[in-house]
Amino acid sequence: MKIDRRAFLSLGLGAAAGTAITPLPWKLIDDSSIWTQTWPWTPVPPVGKVSHVNSVCTLCPGGCGITVRKSGDRAIKIEGRGDHPVNNGGICMLGLSGLQLLYGPTRIQTPLKRIGKRGENIFKPISWAQAQTFLKETLSNLRNEKKSHELACILGNNDDSCTNLFGRFCQAFGTSNVFQMPSAQDISSEGLKRMQGDTGPIAYDLENADYILSFGAGLIDGWGAPVNMFYAHGKRKSALKQSNVRFVQIDSRLSNTAAKADTWFAVTPGTEAILALAMAQFILHEHRYNHDFTRRYTQGLDAFKAMVDKQYTPRKASTITGLDEEIIRFLAKDFSQAKRPVAVFGRGSLENAGSVQEFMAVHALNALMGNIYEKGGSWAKPNMPVRDWKPAELDDIAIEGLNQKSIDPDAKDISNRPHRLIEQICKAKQSPVSCLMVYGANPVYQLSNHKSVQEALNKIPSIVSFSSFMDETAIQADLILPDHLYLEKYGETMTPPGMQKPIVSLCKPVVDPIFETRNTGDVIIDLAKKMGGAVANAFPWPDYLTCLKQRLGQHWKELENKGFVENSSYKPVKRFSTSSRKFEFTSTQKQSFEFNPITIDGELKKYPLIMVPCDSIRLVADGAPTPPFMIKSLDDTVLKGNDILVEINSKTAKSLGLRHNDIASLSTPHGNGRVRVNVSDGIMPDVVAIPRGLGHTAYDDYLSGKGVNYMSLIGPVEDSMTGQDVAWGIRARLSKA
Ligand code: SF4
Repeated sequence: MKIDRRAFLSLGLGAAAGTAITPLPWKLIDDSSIWTQTWPWTPVPPVGKVSHVNSVCTLCPGGCGITVRKSGDRAIKIEGRGDHPVNNGGICMLGLSGLQLLYGPTRIQTPLKRIGKRGENIFKPISWAQAQTFLKETLSNLRNEKKSHELACILGNNDDSCTNLFGRFCQAFGTSNVFQMPSAQDISSEGLKRMQGDTGPIAYDLENADYILSFGAGLIDGWGAPVNMFYAHGKRKSALKQSNVRFVQIDSRLSNTAAKADTWFAVTPGTEAILALAMAQFILHEHRYNHDFTRRYTQGLDAFKAMVDKQYTPRKASTITGLDEEIIRFLAKDFSQAKRPVAVFGRGSLENAGSVQEFMAVHALNALMGNIYEKGGSWAKPNMPVRDWKPAELDDIAIEGLNQKSIDPDAKDISNRPHRLIEQICKAKQSPVSCLMVYGANPVYQLSNHKSVQEALNKIPSIVSFSSFMDETAIQADLILPDHLYLEKYGETMTPPGMQKPIVSLCKPVVDPIFETRNTGDVIIDLAKKMGGAVANAFPWPDYLTCLKQRLGQHWKELENKGFVENSSYKPVKRFSTSSRKFEFTSTQKQSFEFNPITIDGELKKYPLIMVPCDSIRLVADGAPTPPFMIKSLDDTVLKGNDILVEINSKTAKSLGLRHNDIASLSTPHGNGRVRVNVSDGIMPDVVAIPRGLGHTAYDDYLSGKGVNYMSLIGPVEDSMTGQDVAWGIRARLSKA
């Protein structure tokens, strides 16, 4: 079957919304048309000249090409760009709803200064000149008092030029306390560095694999570049008719991805990597691995084999994972029979990371099959080369500040352990941070252990937010310098997560700024200039656009003309950069392969269930707002009124005396919340799944006060290799309210 653009769009949206064969779309259209008529701000497109502007969607790291239809000056529709290599004309519900964010009433319209108590949400509008003078004075005081290291930043997990400008500003200013929100990409980067010597997160060639074995990755639940994943799934489905392409999902619940897979096997949450090790044991034992590849390109196989032989035979793994040992053997046989099998590790969408060791356990299967740097296999995600900025020259204050002990002692450059910042501030009598700048992140919503986050923020004298929306963190700020929305500004997206070929896309203004907002890149450059001296010298550009042009260098012309540059002929080179110049099952220093599963917090007696998050393509989970259209599209197995629904198996429900739709109390060692019960046999017994992306306390009436934030129920659990917070499942109790 050939998939044309229209068919693909339907497929993408069908997969996204899961609505293809349900009456939901019709109910939704009907409800929405009645409902939206009551909005005072319902847009009525003006009559005007129709035009189209190409740009890129930055609402998630997916980086889809978009075409925005305009009538006069007003944007009236966002569509997927048919010629863009990431999304091939597809678009997800969030991308489609971008205009609700652009024109909606929840945006911050002008710089704001807090006048009420912190967190009271009482601000007064001020001018940009006043806001920048205020910030400049706060920061100048720190430098004058030789306390530059008391400036800290929490940034989103992006590699765009604006995020990099913050890093440069902090360096020139004299602080090493720069934190980025953690992501699953950091974990796979670390795993690849150890096994292959590669830099960069992993990319899987799913379009060309003939057997995809996903260990928990929500491949069509928002993983990677979401629309690209729908596309790959659609292509795979069409290929299925001609060949023996298979897709197997390992998951503790019947996620959307599991439902679309050919086969779904349920395992106890958190034991997916143990299943991978048991499969490896069987494959090695039965000599079903790629002998040529392992002999020529790997080292440490004997130590790896000794470890799995001792600890992870299918029999032993069966008792841990809950999967029958015969099924484990069958899976290992099935996987190793394929020509181009690929094993993918993940936990739902990319918001959640497993540990580095879990990633390595799953990736070892790819090495056993020799499917690394090969068609249908995996390699490190390549980036389009960009020009490095000239290193900033540092003055004495900056050097002294950078020599101070960092709040995260393990940080070499930017730390992806913001939970440590929170812990250190809570521990200290007086906050080691005097000023915190937050850009591209909503840590109050996104970080676990909410009580500590709140306690830490209360101690920081000055908080500056660059958010476009009044989110949970902006409410805590003393000063808000609102950023333009992506449809109003220049920016870039580098190769999206999971993509195999280098690509850079240009985000450019589709409409003039609607409110008194500014591109944060310009704000940082202006701020540096106002600081003067070496800080100003580190920012030689007159404005952000000049800085962006310089960074994108030789690509700029093509980006301006076409909107993206892709190296479509890119082919990975089989070259390992480890010290042994081979794929390392175990490092050359160590003779044994270590594997320690992540601990699941909580006492079994007190908390008999395991709570796991579940992702939906209809909910934004990274702390940014979910537009009203998407909230309205949630079905009543996710949200009913203001109650979030948690999924449990009918056996669990029976043993707890709970019935479908009952109101219950969900408790964990870190918090509790009111929930409704969704009884489903698509989840393992003794597991409770809670949707992520609800439980906001900020934004608007459509989003605030609906359900429970999963992050408020968990606390940080550090990865043993990186210290990154990899908390995922936690012990929980569910009882009738
Ligand atoms: S997948 Fe991400 S980048 Fe693509 S349209 Fe949706 S929100 Fe935008």
